[in-house]
Amino acid sequence: MVGMTRAHMADPHLVRKLIAGREDDIRPCVGANYCLDRIYQGGMALCLHNPSTGREIEQPHHITKAEQKKRVTIVGAGPAGMEAARVSVERGHEVTVFEAADQPGGQIRLTALQERRREMAAIIAWRFAQCTMLGVQFHFNRFADAQDVTSTEPDDVIVATGGLAHSEVLAEGNALVVSTWDILSGDVKPGRKVLIFDDAGDHAGRQAADLISATGAAVEIVTPDRSFAPEVMGMNLVPYLRGAGLGLRRCQPETRRGSGRGQLRHPPDGRDLFRAETPIEQSGRGRLRGARHRSQPGGPCQSAGPLSPFSHRRCRLCPQYTCRDI
Ligand code: SF4
Repeated sequence: MVGMTRAHMADPHLVRKLIAGREDDIRPCVGANYCLDRIYQGGMALCLHNPSTGREIEQPHHITKAEQKKRVTIVGAGPAGMEAARVSVERGHEVTVFEAADQPGGQIRLTALQERRREMAAIIAWRFAQCTMLGVQFHFNRFADAQDVTSTEPDDVIVATGGLAHSEVLAEGNALVVSTWDILSGDVKPGRKVLIFDDAGDHAGRQAADLISATGAAVEIVTPDRSFAPEVMGMNLVPYLRGAGLGLRRCQPETRRGSGRGQLRHPPDGRDLFRAETPIEQSGRGRLRGARHRSQPGGPCQSAGPLSPFSHRRCRLCPQYTCRDI
């Protein structure tokens, strides 16, 4: 008997590919445990690496050819851009990708720098190999401008550049603020006393805290969330918590109230502060708040708009409201 549950969730055609001698085509499980974490929270077993797993009806694993071939230009070779490129070329389209960096990966590259998450690099490596094999044209070190894009005469353009970290979080003293990207990439050396303002509750803040505390610095985390790192579920959170001792406190309303969303009005003196958030995570949080308050106890989710799986899951965590639409 061979136990390979997650491997088959990441690629249900694993055995078929092996029989056909296509080992290199197998999408490797990266051990992120997103699937298990979701199960333990009562959600569907989705896969962080394979968006079709658990969504087979609306998003089949097998990609069919398009009736009409198009020229598709994609800006950004992070995970979203790479997946768009892979699916587009599988559909039979002619695909061009522009990337400002000298290699693909985006934020996955940063997260994979830490030993605990190094296997995440396969999310990009597998897609890059598939895209290269299928003939996607990549242009690295190209901060694509309008002329670059129009020169490809595209039928469709996909902008997958992600966003920029918002670092204007203090009423004053923003010169002290850096982003988690600066820390994870090693571009910024942290100080001796560091305050992390984490209103995303995701891995980036935990990874930055790990890295900073490993330098011997004192780390304190401030969050407006009701629980610690709600986007990082149990199987991933425990190892983080086993790391260095961290100070944690919930952000009080008066410290959150500022001229902008999430702004700290009264930062403690003498601390470096950086923000563990990306604009993508911010938008998810906005939908979450709506979901929490439009759902009735025990009833279906009554949110007005589409919700991400994260939003549904966090909706469940709300002590007053329960969303069953998971
Ligand atoms: S979510 Fe992660 S651990 Fe689970 S099957 Fe997918 S790649 Fe593997």
